[in-house]
Amino acid sequence: AVPLVVAISTSMTAKNGILIRDRRAFEQAKDLNAVIFDKTGTLTEGKFGVTDIVSFIDEDELLQLSMSIERNSEHIIAKAITNYAKEKGIKPLDVKDYKTIPGKGAFGVVDGKQVYVGSPNLLKEFGIEIEDERIKRLQEEGKTVVFVVIDGQLSGAFALSDRIKPESYEAVKQLKEMGVKVFMLTGDAEEVARSVSQELGIDDYFAQVLPHEKAQKVELLKNQGYKVGMVGDGINDAPALVTADVGIAIGAGTDVAIESADVILVKSNPADVPKVIKISRMTFSKMV
Ligand code: ADP
Ligand code: MG
Repeated sequence: AVPLVVAISTSMTAKNGILIRDRRAFEQAKDLNAVIFDKTGTLTEGKFGVTDIVSFIDEDELLQLSMSIERNSEHIIAKAITNYAKEKGIKPLDVKDYKTIPGKGAFGVVDGKQVYVGSPNLLKEFGIEIEDERIKRLQEEGKTVVFVVIDGQLSGAFALSDRIKPESYEAVKQLKEMGVKVFMLTGDAEEVARSVSQELGIDDYFAQVLPHEKAQKVELLKNQGYKVGMVGDGINDAPALVTADVGIAIGAGTDVAIESADVILVKSNPADVPKVIKISRMTFSKMV
């Protein structure tokens, strides 16, 4: 027969929209003392909007070249830039040799020009330093800034903002009260990571983490003796979810993330993470 306490916990998880894919991992959730959250789409809504443009060339041309590249990309930042340009009535041009640069940006040849759109990391590869005060200010405000490099020259930048999910505050607060250390992991820039983790009261963060490095950060904390829960939504998060002691996927996340996780938060609510740990503690702490 199923022990009563397990039956109760099954109905509690079900009622809270917590789907257990791996019961053994769910049992381990009681021992977690570190939780790493992915930023975009997990702690934040993952819905970006362009808020500012800094352009060193004609702004419509900047938008047109950028949109021509970005409409080929699946990235949410790319979608935001494409939508913004569309709303301005800009029409895309043909692109040759399009490629995505994982965790960094996108590239293509438009109108004979080599166009890159991407992260501060990408700028570093070109050896370009950011000197423009407006760009610096936008980064300090915690906005995500992506850069447009045309034929090796910095030609402009887009600032985008995302919204922290209101439930993320509660998630971090409860975990800390439970004695769990809270980390954040993101491919985004240092300034954005700092601003979001300060806002949420997160203990520590890893910024500018490339997709293949996310699992390494989980490994790092495990090697320091932590029992690690990883919470994510993206394709990029899948290896980290598998590497963690308990992998937790956001229900609205990608299929790959969901298939890599032990527990799924059907309501996509980060505050369900402390709930998972509480129910696991309640269910398994008394059992031998
Ligand atoms: P995250 O871990 O925050 O979900 P990613 O690893 O997907 O982010 O991307 C990291 C960074 O690379 C983004 O914050 C952005 O600066 C840049 N980037 C990636 N793809 C694109 C793109 N298609 N257009 C512009 N910037 C991009
Ligand atoms: Mg994400």
